[in-house]
Amino acid sequence: MECCPNNRKKIVIAVDGFSSCGKSTFAREIAARLGYIFIDTGAMYRAVTLCGLRAGVVSPQGIDRAGLEALLDGIDISFRFNPARGASDIYVNGECVEREIRSIEVSGCVSAVSGVAEVRRRLVALQQAMGRDKGIVMDGRDIGTVVFPDAELKIFMTADPSVRARRRYDELRARGERVTMEEVEENIRSRDIADQSRAISPLRRAEDAVVLDNSRMTVADQMEWVLGRLREMGVCE
Ligand code: C5P
Repeated sequence: MECCPNNRKKIVIAVDGFSSCGKSTFAREIAARLGYIFIDTGAMYRAVTLCGLRAGVVSPQGIDRAGLEALLDGIDISFRFNPARGASDIYVNGECVEREIRSIEVSGCVSAVSGVAEVRRRLVALQQAMGRDKGIVMDGRDIGTVVFPDAELKIFMTADPSVRARRRYDELRARGERVTMEEVEENIRSRDIADQSRAISPLRRAEDAVVLDNSRMTVADQMEWVLGRLREMGVCE
């Protein structure tokens, strides 16, 4: 249920953090409560990765940068609300790719793709345009540091790696993906390293971000925590 009447000030909420911390679930829930737009920027990097894999310019062995850059003009990314899920699905050139972008194959290549400067430049510009009118909750790795350095509320999420692996494993298995716990742990570990060590926009906590370690918190606990902050800020009742 929404708790943000129209006359309340609208803000930008940046949710950054490690892979599989539950950032999207949390950010989506905040957006639903405030009547804000929710944007999962990881889905955008995943969508570009999927296009690269399909075109044969991205593979687990590496990236053909020139080939990938040449594809970018032809990739039109949009989000459409799916009432059945109560969330937005991502579309590429009119095709819903919400399911395809979550595969372990895409997960294995997305950190390399997100290290390509031209990919970041285009997606960051798109994300900034989406948040121009505020009233948005965006989750990713560089939202509070690069995309919206002036965001009124910045949250940096973290959780124990074992808790994160278990959550992602359960999610993938529930969708029928044939993965092992070892594969999931390895993917999370290598994405953490790649995301923190890349040259452009590495994952790091913005100095003014509040840290939320949700290893032992339910989504309801996290909502109680954030709503307390939002009330203090006068953003909701
Ligand atoms: O959030 P999710 O795990 O779906 O993101 C997939 C990948 O996209 C991350 O591992 C990261 O490499 C990249 N990403 C990024 N910047 C963002 C969001 C995601 O580099 N703002």
